[in-house]
Amino acid sequence: MATLGVILALVGLALAAVAFLAWRYARQQQAVLGLPVGRVVRVDMGSWQRCTRPLYSPEYRLAGKPDYLVRCGNQLIPVEVKPGRRAASPYASDVLQLGAYLLLVEADTGRRPPHGLLRYARETFEIPYTPALREAVVRTLREMQELRQARDLPPQHHDPWRCRRCGHRQHCNAQVSAR
Ligand code: SF4
Repeated sequence: MATLGVILALVGLALAAVAFLAWRYARQQQAVLGLPVGRVVRVDMGSWQRCTRPLYSPEYRLAGKPDYLVRCGNQLIPVEVKPGRRAASPYASDVLQLGAYLLLVEADTGRRPPHGLLRYARETFEIPYTPALREAVVRTLREMQELRQARDLPPQHHDPWRCRRCGHRQHCNAQVSAR
């Protein structure tokens, strides 16, 4: 019985170590990309208003609708909700998506929000709208627009099975075929 207790304790320690390493890796990745890591905040979700109309930026040819817009003084704060996500720090891709909503709120209202909120299953992260985040969003949008204009793109993978199940295979010239 004592042996079982020791094994369970070791497994618990190993899981905690893996969780810590994953958390540290995620934060390092965000730091490499220059994205803010955000901080956990307590919020009153009862005051959140659903965003009912899409926001639009003609300059960046971008339209989108965050899940909620929270009025904070004379500012509007975008909120993105990922109810199934459990993580100790926000994913870089989620920070970038929220950054796009921050850019849209800025373009649509003419007011630059100080931060946005990212709501996971348990935590809410306040992500500051830093110049680095804005720059990363604009850079990503430019890259996406360049990719959209490119006529022949190489496949981004080497998996023939993925192409077989892909809905674009009828008109895709870059399909990967099985040898
Ligand atoms: S068929 Fe074309 S678009 Fe679809 S997965 Fe394959 S390479 Fe990508």
